[in-house]
Amino acid sequence: MAKWVYTFGDGKAEGASRMRDLLGGKGANLAEMANLGLPVPPGFTITTEVCSFFYANGKNYPVELKAQVEAALLHVAKLTGRGFGDQKTPLLVSVRSGARASMPGMMDTVLNLGLNDVTVEALAKNANDRRFAYDSYRRFIQMYSDVVLGVEHHLFEEILEQFKESKGLLLDTELSADDWQVMIRAYKAKVEQVRGAAFPQDPHEQLWGAIGAVFGSWMNQRAVTYRRLNDIPESWGTAVSVQAMVFGNMGETSATGVAFTRNPSTGAKELYGEFLINAQGEDVVAGIRTPQNITEAARLEAGSDKPSMEMALPAVFAEFVRVTDMLEKHYCDMQDMEFTVERGKLWMLQTRGGKRTAKAALRMAVDMANEGLISREDAVVRIDPASLDQLLHPRLDPAAERKIVATGLPASPGAACGEIVFSSDEAEQWQHAGRKVILVRIETSPEDIHGMHAAQGILTTRGGMTSHAAVVARGMGKPCVSGAGTIRVDYEKGTMSVAGKVFKAGDTITIDGSLGQVIEGTVPMLQPELSGDFAIIMEWADAVRRMGVRANAETEADARMARKFGAEGIGLCRTEHMFFEGDRIVAVREMILADDEAGRRAALAKLLPIQRGDFAALFEVMAGLPVTIRLLDPPLHEFLPHTETEIAEVAAAMNVPAKRLARRAAELHEFNPMLGFRGCRLAIAFPEIAQMQARAIFEGAVEAKKKTGVTPLPEIMVPLIVTKVELDLIKADIDAMAAAVAAETGETIVYTVGTMIELPRACLQADQIAATAEFFSFGTNDLTQTCLGISRDDAGSFLGAYEARGILPTDPFVSIDQVGVGELVEIGIARGRKVRPDIKLGICGEHGGDPASIAFFEKVGLTYISCSPFRVPIARLSAAQAALGRKAAGQA
Ligand code: PEP
Ligand code: MG
Repeated sequence: MAKWVYTFGDGKAEGASRMRDLLGGKGANLAEMANLGLPVPPGFTITTEVCSFFYANGKNYPVELKAQVEAALLHVAKLTGRGFGDQKTPLLVSVRSGARASMPGMMDTVLNLGLNDVTVEALAKNANDRRFAYDSYRRFIQMYSDVVLGVEHHLFEEILEQFKESKGLLLDTELSADDWQVMIRAYKAKVEQVRGAAFPQDPHEQLWGAIGAVFGSWMNQRAVTYRRLNDIPESWGTAVSVQAMVFGNMGETSATGVAFTRNPSTGAKELYGEFLINAQGEDVVAGIRTPQNITEAARLEAGSDKPSMEMALPAVFAEFVRVTDMLEKHYCDMQDMEFTVERGKLWMLQTRGGKRTAKAALRMAVDMANEGLISREDAVVRIDPASLDQLLHPRLDPAAERKIVATGLPASPGAACGEIVFSSDEAEQWQHAGRKVILVRIETSPEDIHGMHAAQGILTTRGGMTSHAAVVARGMGKPCVSGAGTIRVDYEKGTMSVAGKVFKAGDTITIDGSLGQVIEGTVPMLQPELSGDFAIIMEWADAVRRMGVRANAETEADARMARKFGAEGIGLCRTEHMFFEGDRIVAVREMILADDEAGRRAALAKLLPIQRGDFAALFEVMAGLPVTIRLLDPPLHEFLPHTETEIAEVAAAMNVPAKRLARRAAELHEFNPMLGFRGCRLAIAFPEIAQMQARAIFEGAVEAKKKTGVTPLPEIMVPLIVTKVELDLIKADIDAMAAAVAAETGETIVYTVGTMIELPRACLQADQIAATAEFFSFGTNDLTQTCLGISRDDAGSFLGAYEARGILPTDPFVSIDQVGVGELVEIGIARGRKVRPDIKLGICGEHGGDPASIAFFEKVGLTYISCSPFRVPIARLSAAQAALGRKAAGQA
């Protein structure tokens, strides 16, 4: 018989942490904690397979499920000495979701389940606390009605607010047992009024309602969005964990909280977290009451006047420290934990690998390797390459003036500047319109996920370091300031007022998420520092990496940046990019629009010294590292003059009538410029262009060598080859020019000639081409276009629909289509190597900076990858991880 339910509790569990796919992260780790003998309230987990069954079978359950849940409930009842639905000693449970990958706040939870008009009295009697019992019951009605019955949360909040106002009360804690009884009656009446049916009293009906709601929440909008943003497959499904309730709201020796074994913002090795005395879980996250610090050190640093857990509950604190140490050592990673203290007894409700900022991830990985907890290779594997992006971007210049208007909590580091928006929909719309925005909310909820994604940064006026805004922003790597309480936000008026000033939507502010500052206007930013833990991880990565990493760069500034980021040469210098700047474009247009060779040569003569200077500068910066220079590959349409002014400008420079020039430009118009007169076709039709470029390269190399004493390593690359003959013709010109420059200058420059492999025919003909080409660089941008027949410039209009419907798993221009384009690359490699076994093989399309594609390039054995300078560290780390991945799989 299929097993759908796994129990845990009392130092034993049927599951374990390795069963994460089946039990979800939460269920697997609860089982693991139980197996470790930690204090975990007993319970059971309904597997993710039930979720898959549920959606595959019209929202029905497997037939055996009911009996297995009943048996598991009896098991929990036995361990707790209570009975589910028992009128004297009732067992109450929590029902929570838990997918394979953690999806914080995305799905639903129900606490205190099993309470009804009868069991609440038993709870009051057994706990000897009526107020606690009625408070729990009203929370249950509110949560269950919201999650399971669809009666919105705020309807209950309004009833409570009105009641408090009528009695002149401020805090929930001021309500008495009798007050809560009044609330319970009002809440139940509300449910009946909205639904036309009474609040369910049968605990079994309640339980199945909650289980159905949790499975149902797998497909709610926010979960769907979260999965899309985090590449979590829908097929994984969620598990449901049902667990005996423990109560953090049983008075002053009870509490509930969340904690991390290390600081998730900075990575410092210190227990870090927040808790609330006499409260239930949702109070901490909801940000309604300001949480207290766990350790005394953190309290002192925060300057809080509320006692830390270390002082308020010293025995519990000591036990908690023991448990958290044990968990971190057991999992060899920073843990994010939820706990509850019920009348002085600690209970662990959850543990999982904690989300952290990129900065913290680096520090923790380095520290843990130095502590001997993990190896250096583990440390390298731990870092998400994409997260490095956060560190490679600018921060606020500390020397610049800051007009600070408010200070909140430093919830997620980094800085951002943008226009204020007050709603997530607006954030998304403005971002689509190309504007940079800061999302300003009183607090965020999972419904704001798309707005947070669209914004540069997030500012909230309420909520702590573990509030929704803080947790989600850290996960996204966006700066966030939370709980900036002096700011008043008025959604209706679309204003935010603070320090006597009123800001409207569209006004610019800056936030510093590392310091918690809200600043008026724009503040200058500084380039990132690439030292410390970052440099150490990069060094460890380089030690295990096989592939070389180069950069795509044309300008001196980009080349310098690339070296700073650790590039080992230039893998692609797109010479056409050098032609856009300033007055060069006029000379380039002259060259393109010239009617004859004489006209072209005149224009080329103007370009030669400019190109020579450009190349000399690149060789100088790259000092002895290889520099791959690609001959001109201009999609013509990008260069043709369009406006009348542009035409007049070129006509004047060429001394021809504007009309004639306009006619020539019209003649050169192409319907499919990407498949038109570009790449080596230009050098075939007009050899003098490639000749000029070759001369500029060799003369530039001689110039750089004279200046620096270091011999440059030019690699001349011919674009868009479809046949060996093209390459032979162009190579002959290059070789001739090398000889000419050597004769003129007396300096012989060693160089190689190779080709882009970026058309399917070139992959198939790679053996022929390799007879001439000394290296290949796969141009996966064009190869993707031509293999899939999708123009990269026009793909936007339909690729989204293809991804949404699962036809393509990801955008093939971002992550290489391994089975299609990838196979062409493999064919090109195999055929090229057959003729020239030591051929140097690179890739310089956008995929050179994409971690998943890099893993593929490692597998197929490329020599190096080349990507934009900002992505070089990401590529170095990804290449190291890919090499380690193959080693672990026994393939390298
Ligand atoms: C490519 O096609 O992958 C490439 C690097 O060239 P470009 O993007 O300049 O066409
Ligand atoms: Mg190309």
